Amino acid sequence: MSLIVQKYGGSSLANADSIKRVARRIIETKKAGNSVCVVVSAMGDTTDELLDLAAQVSPSPPEREMDMLLTAGERISMALVSTAIANFGDSARSFTGSQAGVITDDVHGKARIIDVTPGRIQGALDAGHIVIVAGFQGMSEGTKEITTLGRGGSDTTAVALAAALKADVCEIYTDVDGIFTADPRIVPSAQKVSRISNEEMQEMAASGAKVLMLRCVEYARRFDLPIHVRSSFSHHEGTWVLPPSQSEGDDMEAPIIAGVAHDRGEAKITVVGVADLPGKAAQVFNAVASAEINIDMIVQNVSAIGTGTTDISFTCPKADAQRAVQALQRAKDDIDFGSLQFEDQIGKLSLVGSGMRSHPGVSATLFQALADAGINIDMISTSEIRVSVVTRDDQLDEAVRAVHTAFGLDSSDGEAVVYGGSGR
Ligand code: ASP
Ligand code: MG
Repeated sequence: MSLIVQKYGGSSLANADSIKRVARRIIETKKAGNSVCVVVSAMGDTTDELLDLAAQVSPSPPEREMDMLLTAGERISMALVSTAIANFGDSARSFTGSQAGVITDDVHGKARIIDVTPGRIQGALDAGHIVIVAGFQGMSEGTKEITTLGRGGSDTTAVALAAALKADVCEIYTDVDGIFTADPRIVPSAQKVSRISNEEMQEMAASGAKVLMLRCVEYARRFDLPIHVRSSFSHHEGTWVLPPSQSEGDDMEAPIIAGVAHDRGEAKITVVGVADLPGKAAQVFNAVASAEINIDMIVQNVSAIGTGTTDISFTCPKADAQRAVQALQRAKDDIDFGSLQFEDQIGKLSLVGSGMRSHPGVSATLFQALADAGINIDMISTSEIRVSVVTRDDQLDEAVRAVHTAFGLDSSDGEAVVYGGSGR
């Protein structure tokens, strides 16, 4: 008998009918002779609606209460899925994250899982029940408070439980057939890939691909766990995200490019007129770091006309950008810069593929494709297996389509199917 961990996202649980459909699918998996542990997200756009509601009650809701509020979304799903399964004649038991033994640190809103003690769910599985666990939540070891794992965190719950239970498979069910060479909502000719290395998937997720949460991919790598991403609306084979033990040495067959990701979640800040002296960049980024803000791209250029100053630009999450500006303003006298520029109408395109390591000319093809489409590049950054560019927000979709075509990624057999969800 195999043990299967399945995770169903919000778009697969949008209403009562979808809940019944998912319940039937879970029962099918069990009837095929498996033990089944299921992780559920909140129904549809529930999490966003709860966030909107909180914002109407208070401009700065306490973090602890936000976690109490948001975890309710997943608890609604777990009880309804369990109830639907019981109605179809099978037996299920639902558990909150803390009941399931998901132990986290105490950072509200983006807690990290530090341990999983799945005794209760193991017991329920051994007794022959289907287990339904509320995703995206746990309990802090130190404070015993309820925590959430950050947006999209149910994926991480599923991988963590699969690792702790030593499951045979971790299946992540979503509203598309797997991982595509680009977001099919923007590029209808995007193709499903049958396999992708964990390393490439980490770069895609870090570059804005929302199909899997970054932390879940990191977690799967650490535990050498394969993930099968597939649609709950079809029975098609999805995409396998392969851990290092299963993807290394496979490079000969692998395509050069895994995909094109995009991200609209960042803003750009430019510190204008910083003295060109040792220690100035350190001062700028110390100011930003002291506000606990993660920085993505950095560009610095010394003025060529000999003014002795430089401009330093960087990007960070839009949600943190105002705090970054405030932190820099507080440090203005110490750093001694001219002014600050802020730009949030930007988008980032990232081309990802481990074949870049051994194939020259990838960047040249990328820049030519953007040039042919008349798209201006604002910033560039690279890693071993990624090239990212920042463009104007309103040109980003066109940029993604142009690059997708230039690398021969367009499918010849029809359009990708998006089964549900608002992509919100
Ligand atoms: N419901 C949470 C969210 O929308 C967690 C999840 O879906 O994984 O971000
Ligand atoms: Mg969700």
